[in-house]
Amino acid sequence: MSNPAIQPDLRDLPPQGVQDLLVALGEKPFRARQVLRWLYLGGARDFAEMTDLSKNLRARLAQTARLTDLAPAEIHTSADGTRKLLYELEDGARIEGVLIPEEDHHTLCVSSQVGCRMGCKFCRTGALGFTRHLRPAEIVGQVLAARRLVDQARPLTNLVFMGMGEPLDNLDHLLVALGHILGEHGLQMSQRRVTISTVGLADRLADLGANSPAALAVSLNAPNDALRSRLMPVNRRFSLATLKAALLAYPLKPTRRVTLEYVLLGGVNDRPEQALELAMWCRGLKCKVNLIPFNPHEGAGFQAPDEATVLAFQRVLIDNNLTALFRRSRGAEIGAACGQLAARATAEDDEDRED
Ligand code: SF4
Repeated sequence: MSNPAIQPDLRDLPPQGVQDLLVALGEKPFRARQVLRWLYLGGARDFAEMTDLSKNLRARLAQTARLTDLAPAEIHTSADGTRKLLYELEDGARIEGVLIPEEDHHTLCVSSQVGCRMGCKFCRTGALGFTRHLRPAEIVGQVLAARRLVDQARPLTNLVFMGMGEPLDNLDHLLVALGHILGEHGLQMSQRRVTISTVGLADRLADLGANSPAALAVSLNAPNDALRSRLMPVNRRFSLATLKAALLAYPLKPTRRVTLEYVLLGGVNDRPEQALELAMWCRGLKCKVNLIPFNPHEGAGFQAPDEATVLAFQRVLIDNNLTALFRRSRGAEIGAACGQLAARATAEDDEDRED
């Protein structure tokens, strides 16, 4: 029987940590490569699956360490094939992810925290408040669990950290998990296809850029400080000028751009003059803009914009030489679209579920 209090979860450790643990068990350092292969590409759920290790080593590993096995407790599928995955963690906390089918691959929307403390006014997760950070094993565990749900015709190749939580608020664990996801001893996913989406914690962007080659998206949602501070409390800590300075200093590769996510709230931030203000703010930034019409949910207090308004907003951006994509959210009817993730924080709240 494993004891979480004293036994390290191997997927919480960077590769060097796994090697150190094996050496402490009297093994040669190269044994770590075998174990790491099982942990990530092999997706082992139990030490017993690591069949090219001796029985004795498997037994000693099971006495010394543990593995978190994340499996969805519930799966809700929408008409377009989007699946909302609900995971129950070992302490009863709940998180959600969204698995989105595309023509030749799947994209997974990954959570980084149980709840969130950023308090964005248009977001269901924000309304729930914050419970705790996810461990690296719980972050990469979502990816391993989703890989089991897809087939080779449409493999899981793309990740977006847009589920519950603010990834940069859990930066240490995020960086370990990104090592597992992108690293040569991990899942070896493409750094272009793994996107970290942040509200713009400007003081952490440099750290992220220095330590991870993943793509970057910033949830902007307003073209000026007055409106952004109203929608996103984080803007009171890091103004748009501060955020822009941090983005200009971000170590982007020559061919890469920052994605600016802009959720269009009907009658709030969707007017042509606001599009123009946004275009002015973007000047000098290597960026593209993703326009995401708001998905109304109960008690949100915001409306969806109509399509003509979205297209007019997009036109202003394009006329000002910006790449502006209009992205329809998927899975709205199962509460899996952007800003709709709201797994109850604990299993005890089950009766309140709306799914
Ligand atoms: S939009 Fe993201 S950062 Fe903002 S409250 Fe929701 S989960 Fe947190």
